[in-house]
Amino acid sequence: MTRIFNPGSTIGVLGSGQLGRMFALAARRMGYRIHTLAPEDDTPTGQVADLAVNAPYDDLDAIRAFARGVDVITFEFENVSAEAARAAAEIVPVRPDGEVLHVTQQRLREKQFLAGHGFPVTDFLAVRSLDELNAAVARIGCPAVLKTTAFGYDGKGQALLNHAEEAGAAWEYIGRREAVVEAFVDLEGEISVIAVRGLDGAFAHFGAIHNTHRNHILDVSVAPAPVSDHLTNQAIRLAREILEAFDYVGVMGVEYFVARDGRLLVNELAPRPHNSGHLTVDACRTSQFEQQLRAVCGLPLGSTGYLMPAAMANLLGDLWADGDPDWAAACAVPEVKLHLYGKRTPRPGRKMGHLTALARTPEEAVAEVLRARAALA
Ligand code: AMP
Repeated sequence: MTRIFNPGSTIGVLGSGQLGRMFALAARRMGYRIHTLAPEDDTPTGQVADLAVNAPYDDLDAIRAFARGVDVITFEFENVSAEAARAAAEIVPVRPDGEVLHVTQQRLREKQFLAGHGFPVTDFLAVRSLDELNAAVARIGCPAVLKTTAFGYDGKGQALLNHAEEAGAAWEYIGRREAVVEAFVDLEGEISVIAVRGLDGAFAHFGAIHNTHRNHILDVSVAPAPVSDHLTNQAIRLAREILEAFDYVGVMGVEYFVARDGRLLVNELAPRPHNSGHLTVDACRTSQFEQQLRAVCGLPLGSTGYLMPAAMANLLGDLWADGDPDWAAACAVPEVKLHLYGKRTPRPGRKMGHLTALARTPEEAVAEVLRARAALA
């Protein structure tokens, strides 16, 4: 089977959101063709693709037909089933490998994988009933966080338990489904490493990026992260070891907790380009999307060097509450770049776009990007 796909080849993307859109833009700039498959119409990826196929992810015949029309397949939506990835892999290479999806699309499997390989994670226990939850909370102690094993269920997937007596209410709140109980971490902050591994095993990364969240959704990212070199190096080393443990090909977002007591813990893995890496499009010689393209196609990875410190602020549907945002006002802030994903319907919490600012220091970049975002409302 061909391992290297040169410009002119056709890449299939399973999923069709903003990650696929930015990947497709990078790919088209380098002369590739893009086909995308998703159950929706008029999608962020479909709008910039050569071909948009409308089919459900569990329609294996549709997936096979799609695979026959492309040279290599990748995904931007990690809840594509392992069966769908396998069906595609019967026909063309799938990168990253579908088995990674199987591990990372379920919180318990992911934690067991990480803990089993000796990576630092918060203490956790699996629970399948209220009795098991009570026993787990007694062992782990409070505060604890209860999380469904399926990621992101209706935004209702998590409950904080300050006291053991809250277990019953928390169990009801998450819908009495299989879950993980985690020790609550007293957080100094959260960082991510966007890492990439090529087909030849080459490794590259974009350093540590600092992230702040609002309502569990990423709000602002800044690079380089204002953390010690020691912590940055530790995060990069762990990311490299995680990618190697998977024999991974492609970009992965590794999210970390930085505890107040100095511990660095792996929180979550995203087997694809990551929201915190969007600033690399404007700030780096090679963006996370171009790196994904290079890895998927078996080309050498590019330089991840930063042109300048950068900050990114997400634009959620909430910004449309009083009508269209004032785009001209945000564009009037020098050094700020506007990215919109082509989504027609703004809804609260929906990621519609982002702003990136470049500046002499990370602090200035954050101030600029927040100033531009404030000007939108
Ligand atoms: P997750 O969906 O697991 O990434 O959690 C979403 C956010 O909730 C994280 O980015 C943290 O801000 C917070 N969080 C989740 N788990 C914990 C924990 N064990 N301790 C402290 N904060 C947490």
